[in-house]
Amino acid sequence: MEELFMIPYGRQTIDEDDINAVVDVLKSDYLTTGPKIAEFEQAVASYTGAKYAVAISNGTSALHAACFAAGIGQGDEVITTPLTFAASANCVLYCGGTPVFADVDPYTYNIDPEDIRKKITDKTKAIIAVHLAGQPCDMDEIHSIAQEHNLIVIEDGAHALGSVYKGKKVGCLSDMTTFSFHPVKPITTGEGGMIMTDNEELYKRLVLFRSHGITRDNSMMTRNEGPWFYQQLDLGYNYRITDIQCALGCSQMRKLDKFLKRRRELVERYNNAFIECDNIVTPYQLPDTQSGWHLYIVQVKNHDRKQVFETLRDKGIGVNVHYIPVYMHPYYREHGYKDIHCANAEEIYSHIISLPLYPGLTDEQQDYVIDTLKQLCEG
Ligand SMILES: *Cc1c(COP(=O)(O)O)cnc(C)c1O
Repeated sequence: MEELFMIPYGRQTIDEDDINAVVDVLKSDYLTTGPKIAEFEQAVASYTGAKYAVAISNGTSALHAACFAAGIGQGDEVITTPLTFAASANCVLYCGGTPVFADVDPYTYNIDPEDIRKKITDKTKAIIAVHLAGQPCDMDEIHSIAQEHNLIVIEDGAHALGSVYKGKKVGCLSDMTTFSFHPVKPITTGEGGMIMTDNEELYKRLVLFRSHGITRDNSMMTRNEGPWFYQQLDLGYNYRITDIQCALGCSQMRKLDKFLKRRRELVERYNNAFIECDNIVTPYQLPDTQSGWHLYIVQVKNHDRKQVFETLRDKGIGVNVHYIPVYMHPYYREHGYKDIHCANAEEIYSHIISLPLYPGLTDEQQDYVIDTLKQLCEG
């Protein structure tokens, strides 16, 4: 493997099996919408314990599809966290709905159920919970709020394939859960995503949405003129994923537990290394949960975050910041979120840095990251 000049914050792990799986598809009859789609869906469904899975072009289209299936439209409010990638809220806007930001918990950095309660109105239709860094949200509380107010719960599990909440894998807990298979995520298909659900009605809507709203299923059509016939029942998109990508996904799924094990090892090494560092706040882990550790986010205290960040980059450490609160982006500022503030999210944002974390990170590389950060913050 070639030496990387910069140790990135995240990176895919691809081996010969993955490459061969893709090459096999290239030599087969189907490049897209062939047998690998269902095989990949089945692999993720059985891993997570969900009944249905819909593989789709990426994590963002997965969220768009989930909002569509949930029936989000004009006038509907959907409560989500500001401390996430913009797609977690953009998906609501795609459907004509209004994202409403609830503040985060100062320990887990995940959406705070108490603040969800405060943001509920007559227009609230759904909650999108994001498992930041792979740490599961307080799903029991979120489900009980949803039940009280008759809301749909969507989990943005882009970081959380393999995460466990009270003995259950993320993916089988709520009405719908979405995953992303972008290269930095727990497994990759290059670009790719999936929606998990136990609900047959939602499943059917997701499948329609993935491919133009078109069906060839006789039981869904208003009439059938012959074997060539199909009908467009709704306005969907071309959000299909390819067989090439799903072959890679199947191969990656076989290694997911190995990836998770290495991520957890690395996290333990980071945690132990920073245990006596007063200026480095390590991630808090909610009891009864296991994070898949997509990200390792620390807070840097009593130091200028920007200076620490820039020095780490100068020293070849590809740190990042997850995330800029979504409502702070100019697009949101200009579309009604000018005066929105979530105090905890903004406080956390001002201190956080994501350190390198991925299965291929070596102990030596990690030691270099640890020593460099310690010297900057504690030296
Ligand atoms: C990566 C990510 C997405 C979007 O996934 P893509 O596959 O890149 O479209 C959505 N939400 C969160 C929290 C993410 O990290």
